[in-house]
Amino acid sequence: MNILLLGGGGREHALAWRMAQSPLLTQLYAAPGNPGIAQHAELVDIDPADHRAILDFCIRHSIGLVVIGPEAPLVDGLGDNLRTMGVPVFGPDKKPAQLEGSKGFTKDLCKRANIPTAGYERLTSKDGALAALDDFGLPVVIKADGLAAGKGVIIATTRQEAEDAIAEMFSGAFGKAGEEVVIEEFMTGEEASFFALTDGSTVIPFGSAQDHKRVGDGDTGPNTGGMGAYSPAPVLTPELEARVMAEIIQPTVETLAAEGMPYSGVLYAGLMLTETGPKLIEYNARFGDPECQVLMMRLEGDLVELLLAVAQGKLAEHGPVTLRDETALTIVMAANGYPGTPEKGGAISGLDGAEQDRAKVFHAGTALKDGKLVANGGRVLNVTATGGSATQAQTIAYAAVDRIDFPSGFCRRDIGWREVEREKA
Ligand code: ATP
Repeated sequence: MNILLLGGGGREHALAWRMAQSPLLTQLYAAPGNPGIAQHAELVDIDPADHRAILDFCIRHSIGLVVIGPEAPLVDGLGDNLRTMGVPVFGPDKKPAQLEGSKGFTKDLCKRANIPTAGYERLTSKDGALAALDDFGLPVVIKADGLAAGKGVIIATTRQEAEDAIAEMFSGAFGKAGEEVVIEEFMTGEEASFFALTDGSTVIPFGSAQDHKRVGDGDTGPNTGGMGAYSPAPVLTPELEARVMAEIIQPTVETLAAEGMPYSGVLYAGLMLTETGPKLIEYNARFGDPECQVLMMRLEGDLVELLLAVAQGKLAEHGPVTLRDETALTIVMAANGYPGTPEKGGAISGLDGAEQDRAKVFHAGTALKDGKLVANGGRVLNVTATGGSATQAQTIAYAAVDRIDFPSGFCRRDIGWREVEREKA
């Protein structure tokens, strides 16, 4: 079967690497891809926003499955357009993808389905939002409704900060994403991510992970797309996972199906493990990046078969996902300047030497210049390893990092610290 993979980050390199191991695969194409993905796929120059061009490509190359990596094409309705033309696609339609595309949509769904989450109000005017602050204590969470690449969430610790955040959001700084604001009650607890696959009716768990959003060691500095992750997140015990499935994931899938917008793809739940149990912070409509990399390192069996079962609505026939009982940990090497303006063009070498002893390097923002590998984005490499514990995986991953020569790059030195500390205790 010919498969088209959309995206060009570390997440898509991990997906390409696992799909390339499937006997079902004839030819993998990727748009736009990256030099790591090119080891497994033919790269094609189509813009994922150009739905017509993607459809034409699918017809000309007899594509049997399209795998959509990032959120923007999903929220933009690419899934609907492909399905309408009879092309099997891994990723939800536009309406259910609002789970990621509109925070207000998700909060209203939680209310209808009685899903545990923070109390909230949706506001479409600055004055209304300022007045609504009276209904909340401090800290309070102010969110732009739409996609804002992780930058549309402000946790205000004073009334002034909250008012400033509201003024900024309604100033147009967030474009369409900021036309509506969601104000939320602040929740406390440890955060964890949980993944599930669904074809709209059958739901199967796909494991847990924990990521590190801040740029600096000890979770300091500005937020990023993610500086590292590990899986599983043992803080999400089997009992808590069962509650997440029963109280959050299942009611979400059932409610969307009952309301005529069945969700097909991966559901990525960002959770707060509060004193009273797990509560939903947010949903994403795709695999996390870099969480996907650690899940793919642990996955057993045929990824193509699994994604196809989701796309064809045959997940009930597939059986459970098996993840190896070991820890996978990934460290993001970023270009200096990230998450501000990253330095482009910095030389990278030593990747072959790094890939030993259960370590694997996924490419994110890399490019080839005159045949040499250079940095071409903020997050550049995902150095990933597996081990019998988080401590062991961390040791192997950092040994691999230290074999890579990337003078204009940096990484955090403490990825996995929560679990490593628990393992010490
Ligand atoms: P992402 O970068 O994960 O896509 P996002 O912009 O979609 O982020 P959220 O995940 O909703 O936004 O929020 C980002 C972060 O803000 C969360 O990971 C969490 O740390 C914090 N946060 C969001 N909502 C709350 C809340 N109600 N209480 C406490 N913290 C919160």
